[in-house]
Amino acid sequence: MKKDYAVIGLGRFGASIVRELIELEMDVLAVDIDENRVNEYADIATKSAIGDTTDERVLKNLGLGNFDNVIVAIGDNIQSSILTTLLLKDMGVKHVSVKAQNNYHARVLDKIGADMVIHPERDMGKRIAHKLASTSVLDYLELSDEHSIVEIKAQENLADQSLLDLDIRAEYGVSVIAIKRDEDIIVSPDPTVNIQRDDILIVIGDDQDLTRFEKSLID
Ligand code: ATP
Repeated sequence: MKKDYAVIGLGRFGASIVRELIELEMDVLAVDIDENRVNEYADIATKSAIGDTTDERVLKNLGLGNFDNVIVAIGDNIQSSILTTLLLKDMGVKHVSVKAQNNYHARVLDKIGADMVIHPERDMGKRIAHKLASTSVLDYLELSDEHSIVEIKAQENLADQSLLDLDIRAEYGVSVIAIKRDEDIIVSPDPTVNIQRDDILIVIGDDQDLTRFEKSLID
């Protein structure tokens, strides 16, 4: 179903959200205080508008209270980001996602009712560090503050052994929830199935346990 989104702040992050939502065939209203940025995205977004979103009248004129999903991607100006979020929640926007600049900003956003707080630089940094640390780790996805999913490519050290042989759950407390093998995905794999070289294991667990498991794979 096609949904309406509004993106406030057209820096690199906000602009990339606009582009991706348009790719996904959603309707997007793009808003920025800076006329040049708005002009840049006028032909890409479904609608665009120039406005200071810390002004309640601007939000009302743009009809932002009728949107179910608004993304606040105002970066450096933390005060504007907080005030915009507060006004949007007061106006009854159901889901407000906000880019946080740092942990203090994130804590304030949580307190004032932001529905999703995004830390793009921190999250990307974590993902890249995990990939760099081990050639086995293909991707790393944070599920919560304590749990993540990692994609691990089976090298020699895992090949030709079953999950039962490796006893990963008992040894590390993590679970292999699926195995990608060429085009196939084996969901909830049978523990007796042998892992093949180049299989991709999708592993879920507590961050500390996953880190221990990742370290055990570093050759
Ligand atoms: P990124 O790291 O995503 O590139 P950035 O560093 O470019 O972000 P900023 O320039 O701080 O982020 O802010 C993003 C956008 O938010 C800018 O285009 C800025 O004009 C816009 N912006 C800032 N304050 C407001 C406001 N009060 N109302 C609307 N837009 C605003």
